[in-house]
Amino acid sequence: MGTIDLRSDTVTRPTAAMRAAMAKAEVGDDVFGDDPTVNDLEARSAAMFGMEAGLFFPSGTQSNLAALMAHCGRGEEVIVGQDAHTYRYEGGGAAVLGSIQPQPLQNLPDGTLDLAMVDAAVKPDDSHFAVTRLLALENTIGGKVIGRDYLARALTLAWKRGLSTHLDGARIFNAAVKLGSPVNALCAGFDTVSVCLSKGLGAPAGTVLVGHQALVHRARRIRKMLGGGMRQAGILAAAGLHALENHVARLAEDHANAERLAKGPRAQASGSSPCRPTWSS
Ligand SMILES: *Cc1c(COP(=O)(O)O)cnc(C)c1O
Repeated sequence: MGTIDLRSDTVTRPTAAMRAAMAKAEVGDDVFGDDPTVNDLEARSAAMFGMEAGLFFPSGTQSNLAALMAHCGRGEEVIVGQDAHTYRYEGGGAAVLGSIQPQPLQNLPDGTLDLAMVDAAVKPDDSHFAVTRLLALENTIGGKVIGRDYLARALTLAWKRGLSTHLDGARIFNAAVKLGSPVNALCAGFDTVSVCLSKGLGAPAGTVLVGHQALVHRARRIRKMLGGGMRQAGILAAAGLHALENHVARLAEDHANAERLAKGPRAQASGSSPCRPTWSS
């Protein structure tokens, strides 16, 4: 058996069936809205998440940035976790390219934000302060699954304080499979959700942003501005559709393998375990 590369769930290769789906994808110019496979992926993702609209992006970083820019105007503020991808791992794009001020809060050990701290971080309507516009959460975050109870309380607080909401759901299917809850239930109430197709789902590229029609419409303009308008992108969207149809249930296998590894390679019977990692330097 060859080396198993455990650096990330991004280190995947399309299966033969996925490549076949890509090869026979119908395509058109997606900047003109003419790519039937992209349109299909966007519509099916929206339906799956119980949202009004979907939009296909080349990467999750661009999808998160476009979403944050769709929510927040220049100089407005997003409340976000210190450990959140949108804050920590996206090159400061929201600030640099979106002129959005992040208000980072320390994540609790379970990955959530203390809702009393969120409440206290919302700025009063006073010209000293940036306008607090958005609460951005992430699920899963750092491998931790956030449950529906917490999300419901966070959304209730956001609504009470007049904030809009974005969920970085790059790995929302991992959370859904772990919790045994469909993604539409897990994401209900969020204004926008960004969903990675190229992590555990195994597509070579792509993220879909789903959410309210007006926000997704705005994000489409921003996507073009950020250089994310792709042409015959149906070849990539076909991989995403194939992943949504065939790879979601298989995340349970990844979870089982990850749990075995977490218990320690040594705990596996030495020698013959099928998931014994071969570390490369
Ligand atoms: C991977 C990831 C993204 C987006 O990453 P890209 O590599 O730009 O697709 C966003 N959020 C989280 C939580 C991620 O893990």
